[in-house]
Formats: sequence, structure tokens, C-alpha cells
Amino acid sequence: MAAPEESVVHGSKAAPKDLPSIDKLLRLAPVAALLAEHGHTLIANEARALLDGLRVRALAQDLSLADVQPEPLQQALSTRVAARLRSNMRAVINLTGTVIHTNLGRALLADAALQQLLALMSGPNNLEYDLASGGRGDRDDLIEGLLCELTGAEAATVVNNNAAAVLLSIAALGRGKEVIVSRGELVEIGGAFRMPDVMASAGATLVEVGTTNRTHPRDYESAITPQTAMLMKVHTSNYVVQGFTAAVDEATLAPIAHARGLPLVTDLGCGALVDLSQWGLPKEPLPQEMLAAGCDVVTFSGDKLLGGPQAGLIVGSRDYVQRIRKFPMKRALRMSKLPMAALEATLRLYLRPERLTQDLPTLRLLTRPLADIEAQAQRLAPFVAQAVAPRFTVAIKPMQGQIGSGSLPVERLPSAGLAIAPLAAKGRGRALDELASALRSLPLPVIGRIAEDQLWLDLRCLEQEPALLGQLDQLQQALR
Ligand SMILES: *Cc1c(COP(=O)(O)O)cnc(C)c1O
Repeated sequence: MAAPEESVVHGSKAAPKDLPSIDKLLRLAPVAALLAEHGHTLIANEARALLDGLRVRALAQDLSLADVQPEPLQQALSTRVAARLRSNMRAVINLTGTVIHTNLGRALLADAALQQLLALMSGPNNLEYDLASGGRGDRDDLIEGLLCELTGAEAATVVNNNAAAVLLSIAALGRGKEVIVSRGELVEIGGAFRMPDVMASAGATLVEVGTTNRTHPRDYESAITPQTAMLMKVHTSNYVVQGFTAAVDEATLAPIAHARGLPLVTDLGCGALVDLSQWGLPKEPLPQEMLAAGCDVVTFSGDKLLGGPQAGLIVGSRDYVQRIRKFPMKRALRMSKLPMAALEATLRLYLRPERLTQDLPTLRLLTRPLADIEAQAQRLAPFVAQAVAPRFTVAIKPMQGQIGSGSLPVERLPSAGLAIAPLAAKGRGRALDELASALRSLPLPVIGRIAEDQLWLDLRCLEQEPALLGQLDQLQQALR
């Protein structure tokens, strides 16, 4: 490698011949430490890519001799290596005000679930092994008793997510036959889960009854034919139909289904296992209420209001759950040991309902007292104001959050936070985009929401206050 005098280095352009060979680069003393830590393959690959990039720049007369000195070269190499080893999936700070945010990982796992994963996942476990008899076990046995206890069901099984639970239930009970659903309940959930399409994928024929706003018991009754396999209710979790409306509830529909020997299946979506109104939150229908009303099968998500891992829970009467469990598609949708362990630990938290608002992060955040959030806003405001000055100002504002993930779509959670506004009247949009981007580029990216010419940071979900404070210097530098 060229080792020119300092005076020559500065300002002079590097030519391709000034670049070291890969072997020379790998023999630099600081690179030896990288090699010792990560091995030859990664370091050699990154060194080659680094030199290729520099060669292109040298040919374009865009490289100075200073850039090809040992120190900057090894710096560039270790930056590349660190970037390659950083995972794409990152922890972020959710200041959107939406507690169960589908794009930000939905429910946060409880400590008990995390501990269970740590304790179980690095070694063998009894996933399908019956410790009492020493024979083969069924993974459903690990959670069925708990789920039945918590919901009053006779039987229960689980799959990867609720979309899979709905698909499997319809396929197992309705393939090749007709399934009756109200036109008011042909929902689309984010991510292309649309009831008519799910029905088609499951091989069942959708029979729509009623109208968008009103469906009556006689609509279901007159649609039942010898081809009917089941009646289905779908919880309209992400929208409401208001005004001149009528829907047939489960308690009314169950006898209609049972009189013709048909099951009533309900897709609940959210699946809170406890009544949220005890904490002043809006009430969601509970699986246990649906079963008590006469539903034969109820499906719901594990990572919405239940507060656990991604999972689809299927609870109901013994015969129908057994048919679902035995249906071949179940094998393709079965849950792996990771969510299974986390789900069991999460469900066990419900045995201590008095502690739920402490133990279950979803409920902890949903029930966080407004005064706490306001106090946090007061604490943070001066520090954030300093970091975004002089281009932006910070105000403490009341905010309206949401539960999220389709739960209770029109209800708002009174909250508080920081509204950051650009000072200059011109170029507000661009300034806000730049601020949002700087927040997202922090080591622990901060995700807010832009509205009304301001960037809103709703603090309801901020449980990482020291981490946020700790990166305000970096934010300040990024905004320079
Ligand atoms: C969320 C939801 C689903 C899908 O559940 P996932 O767990 O996301 O697969 C299905 N139906 C309803 C009514 C829902 O709200």
C-alpha cells in the first residue's frame, strides 16, 4: 500500500493502484482483531466488497488518498461488518398512540412468556411427550386444559394465527358445502384477509344473507338447505355500521342452527379473555360469552387483546373441535414450540386476574393512568425541546390513542404526549419528514405520527424512557 507523506495525502486523488490488495488489507493489525472475532469468510467478503466500491470511486476520481490509508480503511471495514451483522428485525419505540400496532409487532410479550422461552428453547422439552406415561403426547394437551378453564369450552386447539384458525375451521366443517354469513359481516382485515376469499380458499361456498346494515333471523333460516354446513358470525372488529341496523346475535342464532343440526361458528378476532370495562375500557365480546350463548366453535387471535404470541385459538364443543383437529390441514397450520411456550405462559397469567394489569404488557399499557403519561410528558418535554431546537418547538398536548389491531375501532384512548412543530412557516412538510426520518434512524428507532403539520409522539407506550433520553444527543446531531 502507498504510504505517502501527510502533505501528499491531503487533497490528492487516489487511483485504483493506490488501493491495497485484499491480502494486504487483511494483514493490517486492526483487521486481525476482526478476523479473530468473526472468522475469514465474512471479513474477506466484506473487504472485497469494500475494495470493489473504492475502486469504482477511484475510477470516478471520487476518492482521496486519505481514504485509502490503513486507519480509514479498517474503520470502513468494521462499519461494513457491523452493518452486515445487524439484524433487519429491530426493537423500536412505539409512540404512535396505537397500543396493539399491527406494523410494530402487535402484542408485547409478558415477562413470564419471555422467561419461559429462555428456559425452554435452548434444550429439549416435552412438546409431544407425555411425561406421566413416557409415551407420545399431543402438543394441544399443553394448553387445552388451561384454555377450557379460561373460556368454559369443552375442547380447544391452536394454530399459527387466527386467519389460519378461521380457514381451518371452515375447511374442516364446511368444505364442499355452504356456509351462511350475513352481508354485514363480510369483513376485510388488513393484510388481505377477506371473508369471501377465505371461504373460497377453504373450499366452501359462501351464502350471503341479509343486507349490509340489516340481517334478521329469517334471513338465516330461509337460506338453510341440505347443502348448508354451518352458520357463521364474524365479529366486525375494525369497523362499525351505525344508524338503521340489525344483526342477529349468537344467542338468537344458535337455536336456529341447532334446530337443523348445524354448528354455529364465530370468528371473534380480538379475543379479550377478561372484561375490559372493569378498567374503564370499552367492552369487547369474550369467547366465554360466545360459548355460553351457544356457539359451537369460537376462533380468536393470541396477539391482539389476549396479549400473547401470534396464535389462532379455537375453542368449542368436543365433537367439532375434534373434527377440526383431525382435519389434515391442521398439520400444515400447527403451532411451533416457540409460540406454544409463550402462549402457555401468557394464558397462565389469567389465573391471577388481579395481577393482569401489571403482568400483561398489553393491559398494563391500556390501563396506564393518564396522570402518569402527562407526568412523563412534563419530564421529557424540556430535553426533547433542546434536541430539536432551533428548528422545531415542542408542546405538551392531550392526545387520542387507540387500542389497535382492529379492536374497538371507534373508541379513543385519552392520552398525552409531545407535539413537535417546525418553526419556519415554509417547507413544513419537508421539515417534518426530515424529523420523522431522523427519529427512525436512531439506534432504537422512534416511531411517531405526522398530522396537522406536527409530529405527534404519544407517550402511552413509552416504557423505555432512559433509552429515549439516551439518544437525544444523536437526534440533535442528525438535525444539525
Ligand atoms: C384480526 C382478525 C383476524 C385475523 O387474525 P390474525 O391473528 O391476525 O391472523 C380474523 N378475523 C377477525 C375478525 C380479526 O379481527
